Amino acid sequence: MDAGSNTVSHSQPCISCGYDLVGLQVLGQCPECATPVERSLRGDLLRFSSAEYRGKLLKGVTLIMTGIALSLLSFVLVVAIGFLGAIALVVFASLSLVGSAASYY
Ligand SMILES: [Zn+2]
Repeated sequence: MDAGSNTVSHSQPCISCGYDLVGLQVLGQCPECATPVERSLRGDLLRFSSAEYRGKLLKGVTLIMTGIALSLLSFVLVVAIGFLGAIALVVFASLSLVGSAASYY
């Protein structure tokens, strides 16, 4: 985009369909798929995504990290108190995790 211009001055593919947006209005839409031109110009960075989407990513990462922590905890418990005691504690912790994850949705 030129400084002070409202049109795309260089070859820029649409972020959704790949259509070349050169010459189109910055505030317009892609003629092929109706995606806003501005969205293709700013890229596909996470900071431009919706707060709802970022919240879902955060929940997913939290669940993954909790799963890793439970795996490490189960290993430590097996070493410290034996297999059956560790299984009981990990099952209890997993059920708590599933209960908390279910409350998100
Ligand atoms: Zn498009």
